[in-house]
Amino acid sequence: MIKKKIKMKIIAILAPVVLVAGFVIVIVCALVSLDFFGTNETDGYVEENEAYAEDYKAVLNQNIKYGKGYVSLSRILYFYLENDSLTFKEIYTDNLDKETKKQLPISEVCILPKYKSMTACKTDEILDSSQSDEDVNKPFTAPLKISNMNVTSFFMEERTVYGKADVHHAWDLSSPNNTPVYATCDGEVTSVSFPYSQNIIDTSGGGGNQIKIKCEVDEDTTYEVWYAHLYPNSSKVKVGDKVKSWQQIAEVGTTGYSTGPHLHYQVSKDGNTVDGMSLIDFTDTNSETITKPYFDNNLSPYPNLNGYTPYGN
Ligand SMILES: [Zn+2]
Repeated sequence: MIKKKIKMKIIAILAPVVLVAGFVIVIVCALVSLDFFGTNETDGYVEENEAYAEDYKAVLNQNIKYGKGYVSLSRILYFYLENDSLTFKEIYTDNLDKETKKQLPISEVCILPKYKSMTACKTDEILDSSQSDEDVNKPFTAPLKISNMNVTSFFMEERTVYGKADVHHAWDLSSPNNTPVYATCDGEVTSVSFPYSQNIIDTSGGGGNQIKIKCEVDEDTTYEVWYAHLYPNSSKVKVGDKVKSWQQIAEVGTTGYSTGPHLHYQVSKDGNTVDGMSLIDFTDTNSETITKPYFDNNLSPYPNLNGYTPYGN
């Protein structure tokens, strides 16, 4: 009898708490679905991007490694989804500033006759979209000579590697084994881990041989850059070393959970991954061979992948 009374009392106390908590959860879910909290680190992430991945990578490789600059998938789709008679190639070109090699502010694209009358160019639409109109700072240099790299996976790409679906929070840049890897910014080496003494794929491994560098680009902004799948014994740095942009830190390999020689280039800010390609200043290329790529589509030998995405993870 006493036990029953206590039980009733507990229920009486808990019931309103559970009700209030339930109510809060419902409200928060509703606000999230209305995008009340906005977006931050996922800015520019195009959901269900698998359908566009191959076309997008083709246009990236026609542009990035020839030093023309970088345009995000979200910017391309912003226009393409309104008019699919436009090609990715022409949207990419129209959205680049030829001098600064930066993605143009959207208002500058919208004055072109081709785009002017689009709904996408109406002020309200632009404000509602994630298309920023700011001229962005580019504090990084490229992690490989740009003529030496082929993009095989872009930031936030939805893909399948070794039968497992994931969203890739980095850039995969395929390049032959032993291609020099450079620091993308002035910073300090925070981690050097080279457990693999042979250049081998290990599907139960992670990033393989890897280096992390922290770069404070201004008072408020510190990035952490992660370079993975590096070649055995190729590290030119140790923890605590100060490095400069374009200083060689290691060589490309295929160690760890990889599908062929490539660099996994991942950038984080305040613990969240961000688009590392969008930070690179393409006017600073450290390359004398942009018009004659040393590395093109003749990929070096890689294992039989049985239909898996080549040069990934
Ligand atoms: Zn990767």
